[in-house]
Amino acid sequence: MTMSSARRRRVVVTGAGGFIGHHLVSRLKRQGAWVRGVDLKYPEYAPSDADEFLIRDLRRWEACLEATARVDDVYALAADMGGMGFISNHHAEILRNNLLISTHTLDAARQNAVGRYLYTSSACVYPEYLQTNTDVEPLKEEDAYPAQPQDAYGWEKLITERLCLHYGDDYGMDIRIVRFHNIFGPLGTWDGGREKAPAALCRKVAVAKLTETNEIEIWGDGEQTRSFCYIDDCVAGLERVMASPYRDPLNLGQDRLISINTLADLVAQAAGMVVTKRHVPGPQGVRGRNSNNDRLRQVLGWQPQVSLEEGIARTYRWIEARVAESLGLREVEHAVA
Ligand code: NAD
Repeated sequence: MTMSSARRRRVVVTGAGGFIGHHLVSRLKRQGAWVRGVDLKYPEYAPSDADEFLIRDLRRWEACLEATARVDDVYALAADMGGMGFISNHHAEILRNNLLISTHTLDAARQNAVGRYLYTSSACVYPEYLQTNTDVEPLKEEDAYPAQPQDAYGWEKLITERLCLHYGDDYGMDIRIVRFHNIFGPLGTWDGGREKAPAALCRKVAVAKLTETNEIEIWGDGEQTRSFCYIDDCVAGLERVMASPYRDPLNLGQDRLISINTLADLVAQAAGMVVTKRHVPGPQGVRGRNSNNDRLRQVLGWQPQVSLEEGIARTYRWIEARVAESLGLREVEHAVA
């Protein structure tokens, strides 16, 4: 049953000023829900479609009580996060802030007796010892244990997964947990230090193209591998996971493994150019990581649909327009083409 044919659900999206939260709000609105967004800030690149948008600091318990009041569903996305450059250099800040946000949001939702609660975890929960090769085995959900996440960011995600599961067992909360694998797309952070690899590569290629330098920097040897999932698939998957009765952690991502060097070539192709790569020292994260989607297909009867080429082409167009604007080369609309 689609949401529009059901009673109009009241939903809160925390982190609605961020990349995934902003897209999720738009999707839930299109599906007919009443949506409250909550964040420290409004979305940076386009106005939110939310019916109500609260600017609140969700590290604070009272703010979480207000955020989760009178709603059926909670999509808990708020987190202090960024790409490898940020995650590998802010362990204490990330662990403190995210533990406070996650614990207070979950407990406030319990106090408010919300219907369903979806927590957005990460592929960063998987142990470092399974991710030492570029040609890595795709990670199954049960591979998270014995635990050894690389960074504080991943430890917090894993602990909050456990907290959600215990709240389900001990207090009867209706919990969902997804582990995202590198989500990318337009309207995401593309500069300033928190951007992730696809956005950073799009920006570097756009700068190389628009300034006619044709050279980009890559952190490390560029042979580190990942899988990347387009934003439309991510928010479609989130809604499906919420509608499913499945309670245990579920990977949500693509399972096509690609090196950062090849990803850079795909971005350059989208820009209609060939780039020279200069390899420089920089944080690279684990050596290789891929998603095993067997359980996703089994539980949802669905898997991400948008090809990497198509997703990169759409993302590149949006970021090139931002770069052109920042270089003073043209006035552009922020809308997604
Ligand atoms: P994002 O940084 O764009 O969005 C997170 C939002 O949370 C931001 O708008 C931020 O302002 C908000 N926030 C931070 N601290 C807050 C606070 N104290 N109170 C209220 N709001 C606060 O990140 P995103 O890419 O949209 O990620 C959304 C969720 O998905 C996060 O939980 C993230 O850890 C998880 N995730 C994302 C990816 C990815 O590839 N983007 C991968 C794995 C997991």
